[in-house]
Amino acid sequence: AQARVFNFAAGPATLPENVLLKAQSELYNWRGSGMSVMEMSHRGKEFLSIIQKAESDLRALLNIPSEYAVLFLQGGATTQFAAIPLNLVKLEDPVDYVVTGSWGDKAFKEAQKYCKAKVIWSGKSEKYTRIPSFEGLEQSPDAKYMHICANETIHGVEFKDYPTAKNGLLIADMSSNFCSKPVDVSKFGIIYAGAQKNVGPSGVTIVIIRKDLIGNAQEITPVMLDYKIHAENNSLYNTPPCYGIYMCGLVFEDLLAQGGLEEVEKKNKKKAELLYNAINGSNGFYRCPVEKSVRSLMNVPFTLEKPELEAEFVKEAAREKMVQLKGHRSVGGMRASIYNAMPLAGVEKLVAFMEDFQARHA
Ligand code: PMP
Repeated sequence: AQARVFNFAAGPATLPENVLLKAQSELYNWRGSGMSVMEMSHRGKEFLSIIQKAESDLRALLNIPSEYAVLFLQGGATTQFAAIPLNLVKLEDPVDYVVTGSWGDKAFKEAQKYCKAKVIWSGKSEKYTRIPSFEGLEQSPDAKYMHICANETIHGVEFKDYPTAKNGLLIADMSSNFCSKPVDVSKFGIIYAGAQKNVGPSGVTIVIIRKDLIGNAQEITPVMLDYKIHAENNSLYNTPPCYGIYMCGLVFEDLLAQGGLEEVEKKNKKKAELLYNAINGSNGFYRCPVEKSVRSLMNVPFTLEKPELEAEFVKEAAREKMVQLKGHRSVGGMRASIYNAMPLAGVEKLVAFMEDFQARHA
């Protein structure tokens, strides 16, 4: 069989090999049920056991307090950009957005349709290379919540700590660093994430929400975006993305088996350090534009001193079975996404390739 590649894609992204093999072994006949998970009723006892285990394993992983609901939804993180203001605030209510990259900007633009959203800080003029100091944030006096994007997938900028919202309500898009490290959930009103980077296939969106925030949706809120509907029905109001939830469940099991998120974070730090050290030690042949203290452990953007070599870099890397290294079109250069499931061996191979490429082209 054709060997697998090291896939540095930003999402959908690489998944743990043992999870894929387990899913393969259970695909045709899930644990003696006589059918695959794709064919099961979402209301049958088999699938109920799958979604309940996925939720309890996620709760264990992130130590989610009982005052929080966990919802498995659809529509991607993009749908949450609208669902959040629709559920939490009214049309005239002010809310604050800290914009540290393109995803935070998209969240802000969508929110503007449903409330008085304000950008209280933007890194755009500095090409989204840093995180603001929290003391300097000019929060609106009456803002109902403050929204951040915990890890900007395109720009590679990651919050290492979190600001406190004046009214206590901090909301975070954690799509691209979800379950990559321990998080104190109690600091947040809502944490949300598309699954397709760290925890599963696309099609599942996870929302972790403080229960007292549920039940105040604007009247125009579509039923599919109303957290109350989903919470009251344990994410089974309509047909959920069953197979995707099953896959997320397998990933959660795997993360727990690795020793939980402290262990996962250690591995992620080691991989990121290796790659950033290679960039820093290249005498400028490779450059990462992001301020050192807020460089993402998940998405590592870098450019070449000689941009004319970038296409060659991507091509040669692909020949050596390292794929999806081309940067986002808005930033250019390269981007290596090194989520939980990227093995250390993948990063070691990339770093060795980078050194060799530099030796040949410097
Ligand atoms: N937020 C972040 C940080 C992302 O990386 C992405 C996807 N790249 C999105 C939101 C949008 O997610 P989706 O495609 O699941 O709607």
